[in-house]
Amino acid sequence: MKFEDYRIASEIKKNLVEAGFKKPTDIQFKAIPAILKGEDVLAIAQTGTGKTAAFAIPIVDVLNSRKVSSRAEGIKCVVMVPTRELAIQITGVFEKIAKHTKVKAFSVFGGVEQGPQIAQLEKGIDVLISTPGRMFDLVSQGHIKLNLVEMLVLDEADHMLDLGFIKDIQDLVKHLPKNRQTLFFSATINEKIKKLAYSLVKNAIRIQISPNNPVARNITHSVAFVGMDDKRFFLERVIKENPESKILVFVRTKVRAERVCSALDRMGLKSATLHGDKEQADRLTALNEFRSGKVKVLVATDISSRGIDIANVDYVINYDLPEQPENYVHRVGRTGRGTQKGLAVSFCSPEEKALLEEIEVYLDKPVEVVKITSQDYSETLDFTADTTYDLNALMKEVEDYEGSRKKKKKK
Ligand code: ADP
Ligand code: MG
Repeated sequence: MKFEDYRIASEIKKNLVEAGFKKPTDIQFKAIPAILKGEDVLAIAQTGTGKTAAFAIPIVDVLNSRKVSSRAEGIKCVVMVPTRELAIQITGVFEKIAKHTKVKAFSVFGGVEQGPQIAQLEKGIDVLISTPGRMFDLVSQGHIKLNLVEMLVLDEADHMLDLGFIKDIQDLVKHLPKNRQTLFFSATINEKIKKLAYSLVKNAIRIQISPNNPVARNITHSVAFVGMDDKRFFLERVIKENPESKILVFVRTKVRAERVCSALDRMGLKSATLHGDKEQADRLTALNEFRSGKVKVLVATDISSRGIDIANVDYVINYDLPEQPENYVHRVGRTGRGTQKGLAVSFCSPEEKALLEEIEVYLDKPVEVVKITSQDYSETLDFTADTTYDLNALMKEVEDYEGSRKKKKKK
């Protein structure tokens, strides 16, 4: 079935043609009719399979089909997301799908002045896309009214319902009318979170695509065993051997993101960082420069592992293994989006073997190992352009690393 055969507004169809969307993806094919019918949906589908449009298309259509826009009365749909970057991205998708319709989408998020956001809210909007923090500030100040909300979407649902956000979401639900439609979307979900999700809805239907393989099939992923102190030389090698490639590098902490970036700088390689300690404007600049290809290498923490849709990311490198096994799926899922293919490789040091095992248990299969011969290994170290590769720097890095491991264990 093609989008042109759907019973949705002709404006939306036109917008989909413009976006180059001809036929629905699997998750869109299954979720759109259920959402149009008004059902509660828990939808699990791999990364990069078009989950955003799977909820945005029917939401825009439902709101657009109203005879009279009641926008001025209040918000009709709330979409909750974990990061500001994702709020902006999803708003972009809504705007694309809602062009020339009666539906207006808008996002609010922290880290920027709230004045302009309040001004737009006062003009009236239909769909609000938000991170929890800023949303609650604006609700408590009376700038956001939720009494007319008919639809609630939790994108990256497992993450939104997990420790960090669950209280916010429960508070949010208290403000919403009982009679509403609730939609959960994610690439990963566990039993505990599933129960929690079901406790928030009346009759959820569950739609699951490829449940046995959480990693999208477009992604070839593998692991290389590399000493902690040698990782940067392997990163250097990958970057130098693929000068035209867009490479997204994930590290464990904000500090390590900056360190890897300066190590690359010493080697004459340009990169940008993205993590939670940066100003919002700098976060957006880094993301946009990576998006446009101005910067080919982005070093990021898990803050950007979820939902971010950047075309043509050739490689994801897990410079450090993720501590949450499901984040492995989300990180590698930043490549191989839509119909594109992607490559991901994880650098696993001896200290990280336990994390790798957890990931393999989570995936329910081993991750393919890239064999590095000892000759290859020493060639990689010889190949480096890092002239500060001396024992002191090495020792410092080892100490930092061990310090942070100890801290973690104490927790
Ligand atoms: P997910 O949320 O499942 O990770 P996204 O919603 O971010 O995925 O979509 C991934 C990419 O696929 C986006 O770049 C989007 O434009 C593209 N896409 C979505 N639906 C379609 C479609 N029906 N046809 C072609 N491309 C699509
Ligand atoms: Mg998504």
